[in-house]
Amino acid sequence: MEEELQHARLKAEQLADTDALTGLNNRRAFFNLGKQLLHQAERNLTPVALIMFDLDYFKQINDRYGHALGDETLVSIARVTEGQIRSSDVLARLGGEEFAILMPQATLEQALTLAERLSQAFFKNKIVHSKGQITCTASFGVSALEVVATKTLDSLIAEADKALYVAKNNGRNQIRAAN
Ligand code: GH3
Ligand code: MG
Ligand code: MG
Repeated sequence: MEEELQHARLKAEQLADTDALTGLNNRRAFFNLGKQLLHQAERNLTPVALIMFDLDYFKQINDRYGHALGDETLVSIARVTEGQIRSSDVLARLGGEEFAILMPQATLEQALTLAERLSQAFFKNKIVHSKGQITCTASFGVSALEVVATKTLDSLIAEADKALYVAKNNGRNQIRAAN
């Protein structure tokens, strides 16, 4: 009985941290893990980088192919992304069609390299359906804190978000670094 209760509790905790559609960390888990990761980086004087990306013209995909295929696209993007990151990276679906990757011990340059790899992988990735196939690109914003930790998770997110906004405004399907 004790064991069953413990199992149920673990399961509930897992559900609270998991995005039901993609199985990725949800927003809540991202902030909890992210805060821990930043404290560690601060203690160890190591860098941290953040990639935020948002799928381009995703509303059109839903409108054109239906919500179910939109969902399938989100899952597909999640799997492609998982295939490109390290196990120590924290990948999350922050909400809707927006994702984040927090990278411990990574510099801005390393994060930009990963963003480039992801951008190319998304472009090659095809979601096949009865009417043809879907290609879904993304716009990326990248920020980093260097060895001496002076930024909070919130400011790291704000910087990546601003860069992502610039990437969208510049025509989408591109990567921008925070300046
Ligand atoms: P932009 O290139 O500027 O990012 O345009 P966009 O169309 O991607 O962005 P917008 O914010 O206008 O639309 C996002 C859409 O994502 C609208 C919403 O219905 C859809 N969406 C959000 N969550 C889900 C989901 O879980 N499943 C599906 N299928 N669609 C979702
Ligand atoms: Mg979008
Ligand atoms: Mg969005």
